[in-house]
Amino acid sequence: MAESKRTKTAGRGLETPPSDIPFPSVAIIGSGFGGLCMAIKLKEAGFQAITIFEKADRVGGTWRDNSYPGAACDVPSHLYSFSFEPKSDWSRAFPEQSEILGYIDHVADKYNLRPHIRFRTEVTAAEFDEAKGLWRIETITGSSENNGSRGRHETHFAHVLVSACGQLNRPAYPDIPGLDRFEGVQFHSARWNHQHSLKGRKVAVIGTGASAIQFVPPVAEQAGQLHVFQRTPTWILPKPDRPYMNYEKRRFRKFPAWRETYRNWLYWSLEARFAALNQGSVLGEMVKRAALEHLDSQVKWPLLKKALTPDYELGCKRILISNDYYPAIQRPNVALITTPVERFTKNSVVDRDGRSYDVDTVIFGTGFETTGFLAPIRITGLGGQSLKEAWKDGAEAFLGVTVAGFPNLFMLYGPNTNLGHNSILFMIECQVHYAIQCIRRLVDRRLKYLHPDPDRQREYNEWVQAELKKRVWATGCHSWYVNEKGKNTNNWPTYTVSYWRKTRQVDFSAYRSEAR
Ligand code: NAP
Repeated sequence: MAESKRTKTAGRGLETPPSDIPFPSVAIIGSGFGGLCMAIKLKEAGFQAITIFEKADRVGGTWRDNSYPGAACDVPSHLYSFSFEPKSDWSRAFPEQSEILGYIDHVADKYNLRPHIRFRTEVTAAEFDEAKGLWRIETITGSSENNGSRGRHETHFAHVLVSACGQLNRPAYPDIPGLDRFEGVQFHSARWNHQHSLKGRKVAVIGTGASAIQFVPPVAEQAGQLHVFQRTPTWILPKPDRPYMNYEKRRFRKFPAWRETYRNWLYWSLEARFAALNQGSVLGEMVKRAALEHLDSQVKWPLLKKALTPDYELGCKRILISNDYYPAIQRPNVALITTPVERFTKNSVVDRDGRSYDVDTVIFGTGFETTGFLAPIRITGLGGQSLKEAWKDGAEAFLGVTVAGFPNLFMLYGPNTNLGHNSILFMIECQVHYAIQCIRRLVDRRLKYLHPDPDRQREYNEWVQAELKKRVWATGCHSWYVNEKGKNTNNWPTYTVSYWRKTRQVDFSAYRSEAR
């Protein structure tokens, strides 16, 4: 990875790359699970010229950003770690955010990744130089989301660009009239304001998705009054969570084969759940019944039960797990409001029926901008084509990793690789394995670049979209998986084992390449 000596202002002419760039040099965007996994496997493969650009000041990605009270993962602990870096002493069955972040820190230290990371450095643009087979990467260092400071512009060069930004890194804020005039404190769940005590406050929560059902219970315990504004109820199952006993942790540590067996059992039992995501499946019906029984057992008041019962297919939005959300909603200081929010005043939320709720704090649990993927970064590929233009009808890639016309670009957790039933770390490891085979090919065949054949990419995506039509995500609910044109750009359409099969050996006949 090389860097030009002179800093520059983005938008001015691009600089000349230095002549001594080690081949292949790799630039990675993001230091969450994806970016770190990529760097570890690159190092293991003998590639040392690695730079990770991280816009924040510490590693962790989504687990750094989502520090809201109650934040936890709904994938079991022993599966929510890299296969090559097991952790025996998970404290409980489902990991909490702080423990996951601790694990990520441990990984960054153990594999000596920090010297490769440029913190507080945001990638703003990347342009592929076809003649040189190099990505020119524009960054801003030291800019701040909080104080609006501008930062220092620089240009870097790398043969390979890896995007590891995830699908859930840009908070979505609702466009509700009057929000700019609200005089209280407002923040998003992924930008939690830990300085603002909620004790005794009059709080409004907008949204009731995966994040909100986790932070509503602890917020309800502190707030004086909490109004939860629900647009759509969600399907919720009991959470089979519990702390691990010391003897269990000891057994995991002393008997790695036992730990591995347990992890495999978790993987296959989650994998089996995919059947519930097929339209009209028997398993889906059984899971729906379990969710309704959970609601029935925790909520007695018929009107509230009705308000909390989803009217869309189970799984069309993410199936959630919680034992404390329904009880929290029924606390005397909590009210569930199902009338849509119409506007804000300087100190209240007003619903469409004209009812006004006094609040001094608004928390947005309104999710993320998910269908744009790399959107805020200007990516320019062969022939000056922009990725934004190539994706004007919706993001798509080959196996979610590579994109025709954008050579030597590899995406982790890219288009159509999100899951509703299993661990995303499994997918990331498959993608890293795939990308490294491609990078090795660049070296072994002395290639300047490679990228997928557009016809093969189109055929693959036709298959993806045809498969997706058979799943519950195509049954018409509004979800973050589907873009404004009705295309599901986010989800992998079948079992993860099928993804593993497709990515374990790169079919280079699906690729075009150019010699150095
Ligand atoms: P989300 O699932 O997209 O939920 C957003 C919520 O905000 C929904 O209830 C949505 O209502 C509501 N909303 C959005 N815009 C609104 C508006 N203008 N007015 C009123 N309500 C509005 O977002 P999230 O809860 O942050 O979760 C996103 C994803 O993050 C999850 O699906 C999951 O993949 C991941 N996540 C994972 C975990 C985990 O345990 N692994 C935990 C948290 C998050 P509608 O439903 O009507 O759109």
